[in-house]
Amino acid sequence: MQRFFFHIFIFLTVLVCAPAVQAQNLSVNDLRFGVHADKTRMVIELSRVSSFRAFMLSDPVRLVVDLESFDWRVNTITQPTSAGISSVRNGLLEPGISRIVVDMQNPTLIQNAFLLPAAQGQPNRLVVDFGPASAQDFAQRFKTIHGSLKTNAPTTQAQTRSNINTASGSGAPPTPSYKPPRAKPVIVLDPGHGGQDPGAVGANRMFEKNITLATARELKKQLEASGRYTVKLTRNSDKFIRLSHRVKKARDMGGDLFISIHADSIDKPNVRGASVYTLSNTASDAQTARLAARENKADLIGGVDLTHEDEQVADILIDLAMRDTMNQSKFFANTLVDHLKKGGVRTLPNPHRYAGFAVLKAPDIPSVLAEIGFMSNKTEVANLSSPAYRKKIVKALQRGIDAYFARVQKNNSG
Ligand code: ZN
Repeated sequence: MQRFFFHIFIFLTVLVCAPAVQAQNLSVNDLRFGVHADKTRMVIELSRVSSFRAFMLSDPVRLVVDLESFDWRVNTITQPTSAGISSVRNGLLEPGISRIVVDMQNPTLIQNAFLLPAAQGQPNRLVVDFGPASAQDFAQRFKTIHGSLKTNAPTTQAQTRSNINTASGSGAPPTPSYKPPRAKPVIVLDPGHGGQDPGAVGANRMFEKNITLATARELKKQLEASGRYTVKLTRNSDKFIRLSHRVKKARDMGGDLFISIHADSIDKPNVRGASVYTLSNTASDAQTARLAARENKADLIGGVDLTHEDEQVADILIDLAMRDTMNQSKFFANTLVDHLKKGGVRTLPNPHRYAGFAVLKAPDIPSVLAEIGFMSNKTEVANLSSPAYRKKIVKALQRGIDAYFARVQKNNSG
């Protein structure tokens, strides 16, 4: 019954939030640059007039244009070599607002930004003129905002670590480019479940929450013994933590890498093997979708309202930063899978899988969820209950983490 009312509530919420009259969808149809003696002109062709705002961000230098949310229909963008442009990206900033980011190689200031309504056979255009600036001028003036579009998002630090939908992104290195590597990276380990949420209950009556905590503690011990990392746990006792708080903790702890540890069960007792998950809106298969749905229900067990705003904020931030973080997460997941196999840990077929795990939604921290085995399989739960077997898994995870950070170091020094 409760579930029924929940659905009614969602339905009404959607009704109330839907605008009564839908404005014609905005599309960006073309984006081009023209180099002039005193400036570079960017012309953005729009399907209709939209309010906008344009401003610069620093570290690294970016030119940002926010518009009403748009469909991106730009085919190719020709970047004049002399204009100091390294890439053009776009993505959703928040509901109703989309963003175009032009990555610049050098300090740049916007000189002018204005809309030209359709006329004389020309479409609606947003024109942004910009040019090189001294470091001093840039520092003094880059915060000037042109245009009047209102957004809820802050214009500064929230975006300085973000990387949205890269137009030429597929070839980008799958390691952090926005953050110099720390001498001692911070790894946040997240033992799944806890408190009134036992997680899966094993064939031998073992609880998933105890296995995940024991594994996380062992991994912390080994990683710290190497002297190479600072390791933090989202929980170090048998307590309940909601999923969005795990994400928030990881961010507050300044995590460079987030690993949520689980050992789930499924209704097929013969299935066994470890797997590593990264975030996706669409699950790689039905079994994975069910698994993610079950893990996400952890919050319901704690009586938490899933409509809480933290979830929504996380969702908004995802689009901002997720594309680059996602590449790094995938790279890390594949690295972990390699080392699990090399370490003699049995894995599922296609052990790197995708699903919408709520705990993987930190927009700026490469995050994976490791299912280290199935509590529903007798052999595996016996293994997972043994400290010796957990050490074997921990060793493999540690080697995967080492390999990941070796790659990060290499990418940032090369
Ligand atoms: Zn779990």
